[in-house]
Amino acid sequence: MITNLSILGSTGSIGTQALDVAEKLGIRVSALTANKNVDLIEQQVRKFKPSLVVMHDENSAKELKLRLRDMDITVDYGMDGLCNAASIGEADMVLNALVGMVGLIPTLTAARAKKDIALANKETLVAGGELVTRTASENNIKILPVDSEHSAIFQCLEGCPEKKALKKLILTASGGPFFGKTYEELRDVTPAQALKHPNWSMGQKITIDSATMMNKGLEIIEARWLFDTPVEKIDVVVHRESIIHSMIEYMDNSVIAQLGLPDMRIPIQYALTYPQRFESPVKELDLTEICNLTFYKPDEKTFKCMHACKEAIKKGGLAPASANGANEVANLLYREGKISFHDIGELVQKAVEIADDSPINLVEDVLIADKKAREFVYSNIN
Ligand code: NAD
Ligand code: MG
Repeated sequence: MITNLSILGSTGSIGTQALDVAEKLGIRVSALTANKNVDLIEQQVRKFKPSLVVMHDENSAKELKLRLRDMDITVDYGMDGLCNAASIGEADMVLNALVGMVGLIPTLTAARAKKDIALANKETLVAGGELVTRTASENNIKILPVDSEHSAIFQCLEGCPEKKALKKLILTASGGPFFGKTYEELRDVTPAQALKHPNWSMGQKITIDSATMMNKGLEIIEARWLFDTPVEKIDVVVHRESIIHSMIEYMDNSVIAQLGLPDMRIPIQYALTYPQRFESPVKELDLTEICNLTFYKPDEKTFKCMHACKEAIKKGGLAPASANGANEVANLLYREGKISFHDIGELVQKAVEIADDSPINLVEDVLIADKKAREFVYSNIN
């Protein structure tokens, strides 16, 4: 098991749960980062005593430095600061729990510094999958999935010595708060309604992504890169209870699943302790209490984002970066009350249609495709 961890995005939903896991396992935390939440990161620094703390926002870093003047700690800021946290000498693993494209350069930096990466930040694997996986293999480091579906598949695959025996990956989806609703019924749904996830308590961006099912689209692309599996071999099944976290099917039609209560501390812990297992504070699963597990087909006509993501990965090259960039902006504009729920799917779909499918050579290619997709969304809202 690792002894030193650097956590990017420690004040978020994944970041705070990771600190809980690290504390229980006795893992030292060498670096913490956040964007602007000075109050929470100050408490975290006082408790975990890392050597480095980074605020992406410069003014927040100034404020934090003042508050921490009684402590012997380096306070850094900006993208350089995030990269310093991603490559800090003491850490033997970096947990990337940042939200969005801001995590791309830190992920590449961690890989080049030969750190194994526990990856929650799915957006950057979606946008730069080819580049991220190539950089990881050139530097001989592991990318350990934190996303619950991918952790489930990763665990199921441990019993699969022959890749050719694998028929498909089956991602489960909760369906979010709007499962079963018609296109008409969703016309006027508010961000407050979309932010009420039935099973998981998560950051706002991913909660909206779950409501639009963009999250499942992103996860299809994430699975394509993590498990080197073509999109045609990745299925999605709606499973309302979020007890089965995903499955794999073998060529003999035998299906292996990973189950547990919906609590991210299980996949976070497994990424940190792989290949070992330790006791966890998560409640034991009692199937007789759950009683029923249900399964449905996803409705790709109503929830356009998932279909758009499949089109993007089939198109290839920079198209997934465009899908992701368009969604990051549309997701935010929806939360700000500036566009409607269905606008998100329409905008992501259009961004994919006009996306550049050239291959990814450099990180700049991804950043340019991302920027163009963001501009496209801003110039197409009423
Ligand atoms: P969150 O919004 O709760 O936290 C995000 C963290 O990143 C915070 O620490 C925040 O300060 C930091 N951050 C945000 N914007 C930043 C910026 N511009 N610069 C620097 N730092 C910034 O998000 P979350 O729900 O914890 O999700 C984190 C990642 O994990 C996302 O990619 C999400 O899709 C993925 N994920 C989350 C869950 C979950 O249960 N929350 C489950 C699976 C995957
Ligand atoms: Mg997930």
